[in-house]
Amino acid sequence: MTDNAPAPSTTPTPTATPTPAPLTLLGTGAMGTALARAWLAAGHPLTVWNRTPARAEPLAAEGATVAASAADAVAANQLVVVCLLDDASVGEALDGADLSGRDLVNLTTGTAAQGRSRAAWAEARGARFLDAGIMAVPPMIGDAASGAYVFYSGSPELFEEHGETLAVPAGTRYVGADPGFAALHDVALLSAMNGMFAGVLHAFALIRREDIAPTDFAPLLVSWLGAMAPAAHQAAEQLASGDYGKDVVSNLAMQVAGNATLLATAEEQGVSAELLTPYTTLMERWLAAGHGDEDTTGMVELLDLRNR
Ligand code: NDP
Repeated sequence: MTDNAPAPSTTPTPTATPTPAPLTLLGTGAMGTALARAWLAAGHPLTVWNRTPARAEPLAAEGATVAASAADAVAANQLVVVCLLDDASVGEALDGADLSGRDLVNLTTGTAAQGRSRAAWAEARGARFLDAGIMAVPPMIGDAASGAYVFYSGSPELFEEHGETLAVPAGTRYVGADPGFAALHDVALLSAMNGMFAGVLHAFALIRREDIAPTDFAPLLVSWLGAMAPAAHQAAEQLASGDYGKDVVSNLAMQVAGNATLLATAEEQGVSAELLTPYTTLMERWLAAGHGDEDTTGMVELLDLRNR
């Protein structure tokens, strides 16, 4: 090559865009409809079924094929996604369907035990199975910027083969071959969220009858909760090491003393402490057991029913 010869092209060889894979969706409730719209918008041929046909009809106008029965919908495609009310409705809907050779992905919220038994049920009928837990509400589905994602667990081969299709409505997080793990991750996060909302409600109740605008107070709540949330990393370190006294920042004895102020303030403000007392009572029990110089993390021992 001479000095003035053209430089070799660095343009990457164009790769063919994969054709969006066809799939079936059972359940076009609020969440199912959002999922369906995301797949349709991305060009996936979609067959839908819903127990109440009128709820699936609007999707026909948007390009979906509406199947007359769940069995027909399952027969239409190898990948079958289910998003129904609960585990019992999944069993009912799929009762007469031939699942052999199908890849069944269950986006219905359930418990870990339900995920495991549904996996065994599906595998006994010749299907591969993934259970899932959706960390989003319908308006977040199909919006890549929303932070929506779905936990998946179960068949790694199924996840590998259909990962791109599953990633269309929301991000994907595969959390292991145990089909119970997706539900467990989902429910653990939802349980933490409930605790947070209980605290938020109590805080609003405290200020409610004062001259403090809730709209002025809300940003303070959000930034305080955001500042405190990383303490979960510290708790995780302590759980991993089994040393609940490791790097303690705010020890239990001090926190229990502070609880008296929280409870007295609730009384002063005429607010029931019923959302606070389950937690403060647990703290007092752990303090009485001699853990005043530790963090609160060790209280998991009190929650563990196998310790009783
Ligand atoms: P909806 O109540 O809007 O829809 C429920 C769906 O289940 C409908 O398609 C309904 O059919 C169907 N269904 C209920 N019982 C049966 C049954 N016995 N046999 C067949 N189909 C049945 O709920 P969503 O769509 O909002 O929720 C679906 C799943 O998604 C749930 O497991 C939910 O926990 C989960 N999820 C929902 C979120 C949300 O914010 N909406 C957030 C995260 C997860 P029909 O129309 O005939 O009643």
